[in-house]
Amino acid sequence: MSLSLDLTRTTAAVTGPVNLAGLTRAGLRQALVDAGVCPPEKAKMRATQIWGWIHHHGVTDFALMSNVAKDMQAKLAEAFTLARPEIVERQVSKDGTRKYLIRTAPGIEVEAVYIPDVGRAGALCVSSQVGCTLNCTFCHTGTQKLVRNLTAAEIVAQVQVCRDDLGEWPSPMEDRRLSNIVFMGMGEPLYNLDHVADAIEIISDPEGIALSRRRMTVSTSGVVPQLGPLGDRTQAMLAISLHATNDALRDVLVPLNKKYNLEALMAGIRAYPGLSNARRVTFEYVMLKGVNDSPDEARALVKLIEGIPAKVNLIPFNPWPGTDYQCSDWGTIERFAAILNKAGFASPIRTPRGRDILAACGQLKSESEKVRASALRKAEQTTVEAA
Ligand code: SAH
Ligand code: SF4
Repeated sequence: MSLSLDLTRTTAAVTGPVNLAGLTRAGLRQALVDAGVCPPEKAKMRATQIWGWIHHHGVTDFALMSNVAKDMQAKLAEAFTLARPEIVERQVSKDGTRKYLIRTAPGIEVEAVYIPDVGRAGALCVSSQVGCTLNCTFCHTGTQKLVRNLTAAEIVAQVQVCRDDLGEWPSPMEDRRLSNIVFMGMGEPLYNLDHVADAIEIISDPEGIALSRRRMTVSTSGVVPQLGPLGDRTQAMLAISLHATNDALRDVLVPLNKKYNLEALMAGIRAYPGLSNARRVTFEYVMLKGVNDSPDEARALVKLIEGIPAKVNLIPFNPWPGTDYQCSDWGTIERFAAILNKAGFASPIRTPRGRDILAACGQLKSESEKVRASALRKAEQTTVEAA
């Protein structure tokens, strides 16, 4: 017998001083007043000053805030923190991809991956949860149980860590190496929309990290009721992990399909706020040998997305230890792409990046959990054998 808890909307209480980097401007103003750092009538001005230090200059020490009086710096340091999380591991792939394993709290480890030459200059793939509840059968993260949702501070921290590493403080106006953010790391962002929306608000603020909302893409496996709220609250670009063109197969690959089937999903996408030829939805389609890669399926895909301003990202399947799936042959992927292209849909084949350091799509999974998962499998094995 197994018991399972629905933790899809859980964020464990974060103890210790509040990290100011995870607060929106409104939240920062309120926090300053609540902590008695300044009176309400001064909160806006103070918040603007402090905001610039945190998000434009990237400081982690209140003592560096040179236009804030010493006694106020002391009050801030007493009530709050700006500390970065610990970087447990930093790996650099042969192709320049950088993977960071970040420990944000005891037992909470997340991965973020910087991929150069993607988007305008380079994209950071961020995680929104530790683990995932959704168990897509081809995804490594799906084999890791959900530990908890990340806070806005923990999402923003992934961007800060990458900018520390790239030396991008204060926020450069030109020649940035980090230009795009994709929520395609661990977890399902639409099960953590509040924190994802706050993080996007913080990261896009023009007096801070200042990344355009149009350069932020949120990828979902299809949490249909949250699509409208995502568009209204974040104006982010939408990516949908489609992977199949009929319910029978999608039920297997993306089990959430049993809850929100293709008809409901496609209706939700068509209604996504702000969709236009300039702001297309991206359909992600992982190429699985002999599973979803036939020419008939390419034609079914064209039919399914007809009339939607869209492009299709064909993702060669990235293998991980223990999976039974295989990546489609290159020729098969090219034939599939040609059918989509002919029908008028841009369909780039995504070059796998950082495969040598397990940083490619769907390969992320934090080490600590891997250990626990294998221990679990061993325990299950023993139980089965004993039965
Ligand atoms: N949970 C969200 C975002 C994270 S997954 C979602 O599912 O959309 C980011 C993308 O990687 C998704 O399109 C996902 O389907 C894809 N992916 C997962 N495992 C993969 C693998 N092993 N190879 C290639 N792509 C994979
Ligand atoms: Fe979760 Fe996305 Fe992986 Fe599915 S593909 S298990 S939703 S992270």
